[in-house]
Amino acid sequence: MTECYLDAEALQKIDACVHCGLCLTACPTYRVTGNEAESPRGRLYLMRALAEESPGVSAQAIQPHIDSCLGCLACQTACPSGVDYETLLSQTRMALLEQQPAWLRVQRRLWLEYILPRQIWLTVLATVLQQFQRIGGPRVLKRLFQNPFIQKVLGPSLQAKVGFIPHIQEIAPLAQEAVYGENIRGRVALMTGCVMNTLFARVHRATIHVLVENGYQVVIPKQTCCGALAHHAGEHDITEKLATQNITSVLQSNPDWIISNAAGCGSTLQHYASICPTNENAKRFAEKADDILAFLDRIELKPPYQSVIMKVAYHAACHLHHAQEVQQQPYSVLSQIPGLDFIPLTEADMCCGSAGVYNMAHSQMSLDILNMKMAHIHDLGPIDAILSANPGCTIQLESGLAQRNLAIPVMHPIEVLALAYTRGGIHPQGHSTHFP
Ligand code: SF4
Ligand code: SF4
Repeated sequence: MTECYLDAEALQKIDACVHCGLCLTACPTYRVTGNEAESPRGRLYLMRALAEESPGVSAQAIQPHIDSCLGCLACQTACPSGVDYETLLSQTRMALLEQQPAWLRVQRRLWLEYILPRQIWLTVLATVLQQFQRIGGPRVLKRLFQNPFIQKVLGPSLQAKVGFIPHIQEIAPLAQEAVYGENIRGRVALMTGCVMNTLFARVHRATIHVLVENGYQVVIPKQTCCGALAHHAGEHDITEKLATQNITSVLQSNPDWIISNAAGCGSTLQHYASICPTNENAKRFAEKADDILAFLDRIELKPPYQSVIMKVAYHAACHLHHAQEVQQQPYSVLSQIPGLDFIPLTEADMCCGSAGVYNMAHSQMSLDILNMKMAHIHDLGPIDAILSANPGCTIQLESGLAQRNLAIPVMHPIEVLALAYTRGGIHPQGHSTHFP
């Protein structure tokens, strides 16, 4: 790097760090390694050293420490000095892209730009995986990767990677350009996302059910991937391209609000104004964008029809709790459900290790972080469901539960609320698969 990759404003953001270390224990990678370079303070130090071209500090040397950051933003919540870690991480990742091997970049761009934004590709891939799982493929792979010789040749993290592959249940994505319900209190555009719509369309059906029951018309506008994964990877041009497509097509559906039920997507949608600074409609889009639980907390909810007798614990997804600062709203919305028993989860707002595709790229670290989360879940005692408002977290938690042979469903909070708006009984597993 021949010129400073951070502008003066970004350097000032680093200066806000007073090295107090209050963020260290909030940082999952520091908790696992105890290494300062794997902490927020250490990473900020490295960013500054790179920007100032300090002797002995190169892009290659700091890359592993920036790559291993989950982007969970727990440090930002913990920091009393208000360090804007999110922006600094994003700018550093963008600057380090050129250091990555060309083959890796090409492969990643192929996924981010051509596969994830196309529902057809995701449906095909999920169907192939589902068939592989039905014939017992994962069991065979697991046994194979337990073999010491195979582990030596292919590396021990392969076994962890196989454990993180989602178990495919239902593949029934919602169609675009559909409208549900009457416009009594307003019109909501629902962002269905890519992974969310492929693997968790049941959450969209529950979301539509709750909104329609509360007098909102729900439109599923023509849309593409929100760009969250590209944004976190520092691939700005792909993020901007996807955001631009969404801004144009979603605003054409004339919504009063643009709602997401996936924490990672919601956070990115709310950043569209800074992702597309020259797009005159980006600010309007971002102002309408909101998370479903934050939205429901703002409106007056119609009283639920029935009790939901369940004991649940809530895992606070990082991109809801830290990035969007939606913290009390999920509790406040769910507290309106009669019969629901909340069991507090220790360190509910600590990352589960999923972080987009982090569990595939840094499998051992991800597993170590997941183990901390699972220890807290184990301490809960008997429970009917774990609640999570992000598809990545749901897959990660399901994987941790499966590895421990725990048959506890992971549900989105909106699924529990949808049960309370259902007349005539509750699905025994608590899953709301039959909304509209
Ligand atoms: S974003 Fe998360 S992993 Fe990265 S430095 Fe902050 S707390 Fe640590
Ligand atoms: S809490 Fe904030 S000010 Fe303190 S070391 Fe961490 S980033 Fe720096």
